[in-house]
This record gives sequence, C-alpha cells and structure tokens, in this order.
Amino acid sequence: MRIALFLLAAALWGADPNVRVQLVTGGHPHDISFYGVFEGDRDFTINVNPHPSAFQSDFRKDVDVLVLYDMADMDGERERQHLREFLDAGKGMVVLHHAVIDNQHWPWWYEDVVGGRYLLKPEDGQRASTYQHDVAMRVRPVEKHPVTEGIGEFAIVDEVYNYMWVSPRSRVLLEADKPEGPKAVAWIAPWPKSRVVAIQLGHGREAHENPAYRKLVRNAILWAAGRM
Ligand SMILES: [Zn+2]
Repeated sequence: MRIALFLLAAALWGADPNVRVQLVTGGHPHDISFYGVFEGDRDFTINVNPHPSAFQSDFRKDVDVLVLYDMADMDGERERQHLREFLDAGKGMVVLHHAVIDNQHWPWWYEDVVGGRYLLKPEDGQRASTYQHDVAMRVRPVEKHPVTEGIGEFAIVDEVYNYMWVSPRSRVLLEADKPEGPKAVAWIAPWPKSRVVAIQLGHGREAHENPAYRKLVRNAILWAAGRM
C-alpha cells in the first residue's frame, strides 16, 4: 500500500519512482552470478560504479541506496567526505559479504556505521576472523523485521566468516549454524542517521541463486530506501 502511494506520488511529481542504487564493486573478484541477484528487480535503477570512481564525486542527489560489494580501504579524505555526507543525509546502505572487510583503518566506519567487522589480524585482544568456503548451513530469523519479511528458516551453501566482531549496538536479524564463533550473519547497523543493513552471506553462485538470499537483498534495499 505504501509503495503504491509512493508510485502514485512519484508519477504526479514526475520523479523517478525507482529506487536508485549505486552498486560498488572492486578489490575482490566475484562470480558473474552476483548480478543475477537483482534479476527481476525492475523497480530498482542500478548503476555499477567500481572503485576508485564510486566515491570521487558527491552522489547524494543521484543515489537513494548504496550497495557495497567491494573489498577496499578508503583512505582518501575526499572520498571519505563524500561517503560521510551521503550517510549524514539520511541515505541508506546495504553492506554485502566481503564488504564487511572494508575500511580496516577507519573505526568510525566499522564501529558507528556498519556495527561489524571482519578482522584481518588480531587486534585489542580479539582474534582474527577466518573464512571457510562451501559450508552447508541453516539460517534462521532472530526477530521480526521488514528486512526478513517473507523469509523463514532457509538452507544455504555459502562461504562463512567465523569470529567476526558484531557490535552489541547492532540488531541481529539472522543467525546461521556456523562452524565456529558468533552466529550472526545479518544485522541492522547502529548508524542513527540512516538505514544501514549488513549481510555477511553472498560469496558465490549457490548463494546468488538462492531465492531466500535474493529476497533478503531485495528487502534490505527497499528498507534502506525507506520503501517498506
Ligand atoms: Zn567471499
């Protein structure tokens, strides 16, 4: 109903009714099946903009939701400024899979914005995170939330990140029976100025073609855009 009203309003005002997504890649190879995750999402206008160009200009007016599928450290002050301004402006973000490794040297990023971090090395008494490919898991929703709407418990074969740090301020949405360490695989980030969702799943074809994973990513984008 809310979406129908939005579409009507957008049509009357002549605005693009689609959710405008900037999808950022770079720094990590991935299977072409990743792009199939967005197949059928005709209500999204998705622009793929890899590093380093993604953050080189102010993208606030052209983008509703930033979707990260990159793995990179952003060390340039100008790029950091554009990203901060986007998130300060109340714009949404979805952080997918290896993007939870981004910005290892930017505490504001992993503590206040994403509320989670894959540790490349031990730090402050915390052990390094580890990864494991092709793990068959069961994933279950922890609580009711628009991002997990229509998604019950599901099976997935995917890469697992063990021993990730997830902030106590993050709101965990999904847990999986991971082989080791904390079980969270999706959460609402603590960032107070906009809607940010982190989803640790999504390495390869088996995840990308999983209907529950596709629905999860779609819901996350809609929610981050304020459309749910
Ligand atoms: Zn991976």
